Amino acid sequence: MNIINKTKHKIYLLLFVSLVTQARNGSSWGFFGHRKINLLAIYTLPSPLHSFYRRHSKELQELAVLPDARRYILDEEAARHYIDLDKYQLNQVSFSTWEQMLRHTSEDSLRKHGIVPWHIPIVYKRLVLAFIKKDSLQIIKLSSELGHYVADAHVPLHTSSNYDGQKTNQGGLHSFWESRIPELLGNKLDQFSGPATHIIHVQEASWSWVLASHKQLKDLFKIASEVSSSLKEGEKYSFEQKGQALVKIQSIKYSLAYHKALNNQIETRFTAAIKHVGDLWYSAWLEAGQPSFE
Ligand SMILES: [Zn+2]
Repeated sequence: MNIINKTKHKIYLLLFVSLVTQARNGSSWGFFGHRKINLLAIYTLPSPLHSFYRRHSKELQELAVLPDARRYILDEEAARHYIDLDKYQLNQVSFSTWEQMLRHTSEDSLRKHGIVPWHIPIVYKRLVLAFIKKDSLQIIKLSSELGHYVADAHVPLHTSSNYDGQKTNQGGLHSFWESRIPELLGNKLDQFSGPATHIIHVQEASWSWVLASHKQLKDLFKIASEVSSSLKEGEKYSFEQKGQALVKIQSIKYSLAYHKALNNQIETRFTAAIKHVGDLWYSAWLEAGQPSFE
């Protein structure tokens, strides 16, 4: 078994575990969303890079969900997917580096509230190194993981300790927003969002994505309440077959009503995620001196 196959085997095992043990943040953008974001990011790339990524499109999609699955075996993994910005004074944390934060906050406390804006630059640097070494396996693995964290940074509910609406009596909002509705939208999410552009300051860019997500939270919660109270209880949920199980899930009527009222919020964050994943892949390649893969 080669590394990709071994990793795949591990993912399927972990995914099984993750389906039966729901932890914080559900599975972020869901399998569907993460796979699609990595796939569509390939189309933002210029030609030499585009063909390399296209050759590995299957692995890029399959490995896109690995970071979520890994949370169940690696303690430090969970913190990499979110940041509870409501636990900070926004003007004191925004655009900070990890080292700046460590001057006044303990590492434990930082990790407890999530580290996604600081983790993206770390994975990015690893990707630059993989490009320098022309290590194709690592380039694909790191690109797909970077794609995952960048995608998570674009989800508003990944920027709050009220990540599932559980503090405002709106439990279940997380998977409603990032999985249920995107899955219903399906191919309507396939928008061209490129071309990729060079990002020089990755730390700064990560912050701007997280802050833009955070800004959407107010509407996300408010509209959820409005739509919920505009429908009768009996209209809001239905039962759907998921694999072997019959699960209670937001009805199509409820989902589409929320989606419509959000006025493209989900598509806008989704498309921005695709563009920014492409930007970082492209930037890492540029920074490594544009290696060729012939
Ligand atoms: Zn995640």
